[in-house]
Amino acid sequence: MIGMDGKEITDALSNVKDSYFNKDIITLGYVKGMSIGDKELRFTLRLPAPMMPNHDELAQKCRDALKDIQSLENIEIKKDWEVQRLPALNAPNTPQALKKVKNIIAIASGKGGVGKSTVTVCIAEAFAQAGAKVGILDIDVYGPSIPNMVGLGNHQLGGAQDGVLEPVEAHGMKIMSMGFLATKDTPVVWRGPIASQLVQQFLGAVDWGDLDYLFVDMPPGTGDIQLTLSQSVPLTGAVIVTTPQEIAHTIAEKGLRMFQQVKIPILGIVENMAGFTPPGSDEIFHIFGEGGGKSAADEFELPMLGQISIRQELREAMDKGTVFVDDNINSIASLIAVEAMAIVTNEELSPFAPQEINLANDGETLVIKWQDNVEHVISAFNVRFMCPCAHCVDEITGEKIVKETQIPSDIKITESVPVGRYGVRFTFTDPSPGAGAGIYTFSFLRKLGEDAINNASFEV
Ligand code: ADP
Repeated sequence: MIGMDGKEITDALSNVKDSYFNKDIITLGYVKGMSIGDKELRFTLRLPAPMMPNHDELAQKCRDALKDIQSLENIEIKKDWEVQRLPALNAPNTPQALKKVKNIIAIASGKGGVGKSTVTVCIAEAFAQAGAKVGILDIDVYGPSIPNMVGLGNHQLGGAQDGVLEPVEAHGMKIMSMGFLATKDTPVVWRGPIASQLVQQFLGAVDWGDLDYLFVDMPPGTGDIQLTLSQSVPLTGAVIVTTPQEIAHTIAEKGLRMFQQVKIPILGIVENMAGFTPPGSDEIFHIFGEGGGKSAADEFELPMLGQISIRQELREAMDKGTVFVDDNINSIASLIAVEAMAIVTNEELSPFAPQEINLANDGETLVIKWQDNVEHVISAFNVRFMCPCAHCVDEITGEKIVKETQIPSDIKITESVPVGRYGVRFTFTDPSPGAGAGIYTFSFLRKLGEDAINNASFEV
């Protein structure tokens, strides 16, 4: 064995940068449990949140960084994650009940009926399915709908033991709702000071135990309750849910300003009921037009976390209290995870983003103009072939699963949709497994573009 030691390996790995946080993975503490054997290396790549969209990409970059170490024949990279806690929650005045909660994320909307509770449940379920410890606190005093959506429609609180309320388990999550307080004889709607007081009591009284994420389903609009919540506990941030129609006025005037005033970071916008998807289909019909969410996100310089179309399956799942999570919901959740971690680690997100992404030659060519005016031209075939998603690349070994021969040589990109501030999702003419399912982060596309130039210069 020649020269294979821990230092050589960590030196090599310290060239791998997480472009979201613009730091290398050794400094960020991602590399854990390294074991160096005879010609082989094992370690765990531990990211600060589940479902980070660049997990596969970072593992691949590690392999690339290590490939010049001659004596290394076998590299095993295990991928896992551990959520970090918002430091402000460590303050001594944090209610005892929240002592083991790592992040509190509010889900808010300018008005009712836009699907805020639906989005809360779907996102929370995506995190729970990814293995995170998740809770939902439903303080939508105007119509607490979370209990029905998670199959707890008939549940009533048994009363507090020594002032402590136990959340109820459903779909692997801990649930507490103001709806549990309602009976036939008591009102379901609370207003003004009583509602704020109840929220405060709830915050201090529910025994959440260990949680990675507590999602709070807020009442719509801005009022006492939002202020009470934001003043009582530090929030990692708020996600704003809108519909395409609602965007221009309500969000701008109410939700965003309120959160900005009370200095709660806004993690991004989810556009719900964005078009219609018929049962059994994946196609979206933009019956109300499109682009409203994106223009609001652009105007307020906020990340667009994703869109959810109107789906009968989704409405039925919510009515029956069953789970609804798909690739799209997972993608939105993963962007929320990244945004939340950017707040927690207090790192500026990388400004590394393209000025323009265009399709040329009827979608056969992708043209990207970067902030530094560098322009990259990549073939749609290459983009498809290099897809970093789990369908196309083995998660453990980093080996390519998709074969060049499986991809039509005249494949085209039909659509490119921005996801968050970090990447883009392409739709291809070839619907084979995995096609378009992965998110292409900007840093990954930058590397693809650079490789395309290098390869071209070899061919000259
Ligand atoms: P809010 O919390 O904003 O008041 P809800 O989440 O309670 O709104 O949603 C209102 C109604 O719309 C519910 O019946 C819900 O099932 C339905 N709904 C929400 N989003 C969708 C969607 N994307 N597709 C189909 N139905 C939806």
